[in-house]
Amino acid sequence: MKFWRKPFDADKIKIPNGEIHIIADRCKGCSFCVEYCPKDVLELSEEFNVKGYHPPTVKKPDDCVACHLCEMLCPEFAIYVTLKEDEQTAELAKEGEQ
Ligand code: SF4
Ligand code: SF4
Repeated sequence: MKFWRKPFDADKIKIPNGEIHIIADRCKGCSFCVEYCPKDVLELSEEFNVKGYHPPTVKKPDDCVACHLCEMLCPEFAIYVTLKEDEQTAELAKEGEQ
């Protein structure tokens, strides 16, 4: 996405990086997560799960911004996202300070 100007606080904002977890055997291959990911992080794999569907796979792991949209859209609760381990530790430390 291209902005017409740079936000004033752009240097203070850290973009989170998500870790994607896929429960392949729950997936029904609807592809909602693949189609609607704003960062085009996922694709359907060539493999079959126990139900005979192609579950998603992560094609660009460093591009996930942990927006959780895939998680919210999945009708089978087959995908969820956590922050990468180091970011999670930093987040917990911040909460501990408050
Ligand atoms: S959390 Fe957002 S950016 Fe990451 S894979 Fe899901 S939809 Fe894409
Ligand atoms: S939205 Fe859920 S069920 Fe649909 S392809 Fe993605 S992981 Fe599978």
